Amino acid sequence: EHVRCLAKVVAQDDERYAVVYGLDDTEHKRLEATRRDFVANVSHELKTPVGAIGLLAEALLESADDVESVRHFGQRVVGETKRMGRLVSELLALSRLQEGDTPEFTPVGVDELIDDALSAATLTAEAAAIELRSDDPIGATIRGDRLLLLTALNNLITNAIAYSPPDTVVSISRRIIKIDGRPMVAIAVTDRGIGIARADQQRVFERFFRVDQARSRMTGGTGLGLAIVKHVAANHGGTINLWSEPGTGSTFTLCIPEDLSDMDWST
Ligand code: ADP
Repeated sequence: EHVRCLAKVVAQDDERYAVVYGLDDTEHKRLEATRRDFVANVSHELKTPVGAIGLLAEALLESADDVESVRHFGQRVVGETKRMGRLVSELLALSRLQEGDTPEFTPVGVDELIDDALSAATLTAEAAAIELRSDDPIGATIRGDRLLLLTALNNLITNAIAYSPPDTVVSISRRIIKIDGRPMVAIAVTDRGIGIARADQQRVFERFFRVDQARSRMTGGTGLGLAIVKHVAANHGGTINLWSEPGTGSTFTLCIPEDLSDMDWST
């Protein structure tokens, strides 16, 4: 995905020099294969909800006289349609991120960002009987795309809720830490859920990778959430880390460089 370009000076036959950034052969082939895999994955992922909606619509037609069945199948059509809508909008977000298309970065208050993410997750948490907890504000600022950062945080929080049993706690904490001497804002989302086996810990950040297909589908997942988080982190010059133990829970930590441009340097 991180395309390394080879610069080649192609035309030097007049005063105007044209510099063309091209890919070498192996890179071309690798990209082509990645693209083919991606298209195959997307087609497969879209086929599933489309197929389900078709079957549900048939069932609806056949049970037209039975109000209970109509309600049941109707609700499932709505559910599948929503999931497909999410899939399409997440695909769009991901492809924009992969094209390196980063809209204007502005200063973003970390505490406000966390508050907004928590508000957005309140209903989902209540429905799943999960208690959301967060620590005290730290007054830090990062530079970035507010909406993308919010999406990343939301993905982490909704996953934490989706992969935890009822009556457990999901907590969000924030710190300023130094990585290679550089101040970074670390936002950690911790759950007491099912956890992720070591062998899968890298893979969960891949597009469409799921530990358990059935469970992810049941929770309305698209398999793109963590791929988006990874790209948002990279586009902001940051990182995403995962600590997890099956049966104990998981902690995802998003680290983004602190914005020091507004710092008062006067003595
Ligand atoms: P999905 O839409 O399936 O949740 P994600 O990309 O967000 O897609 O996550 C990929 C997979 O990683 C999930 O299907 C799940 O198996 C696993 N996963 C993500 N977050 C957690 C978590 N907090 N606890 C346990 N497993 C998780």
